[in-house]
Amino acid sequence: MKIPKKYKDKIKNKIKAKRKKKRELSEAEHREVKQPSPAKKLKNFAVSAIKHAVNGMPTCTQEEIDERLAVCQGCKWFRGRKCYKCGCACNNNKKFLNKLAWADQECPVGKWGKIEKDETD
Ligand code: SF4
Repeated sequence: MKIPKKYKDKIKNKIKAKRKKKRELSEAEHREVKQPSPAKKLKNFAVSAIKHAVNGMPTCTQEEIDERLAVCQGCKWFRGRKCYKCGCACNNNKKFLNKLAWADQECPVGKWGKIEKDETD
């Protein structure tokens, strides 16, 4: 069965319009996700570092880091091993400058929380 040209054009235009709308939506979402300014990042880090030091610098196990990272990887604020909400590094390293490795840290939008550590950890 042959589809008349006017219907073909209608379908093509509908598909084009859908694609354009989808592209505009994803661009809008991309624009919405911006890193905090360097000054704000520095302030966030300083506040977190002071709290971390006051709490006795509790660290996470590798499994806890991996669990947190899995949540971050599904988050719209996660870009290139960083959280664009707070500007902190989020990766699977058990290093000092990794938000996910600090047990007393929590996600700024509440997707994961602090991990209570007792003295023996
Ligand atoms: S810390 Fe929270 S807001 Fe930031 S990337 Fe991870 S889940 Fe998303």
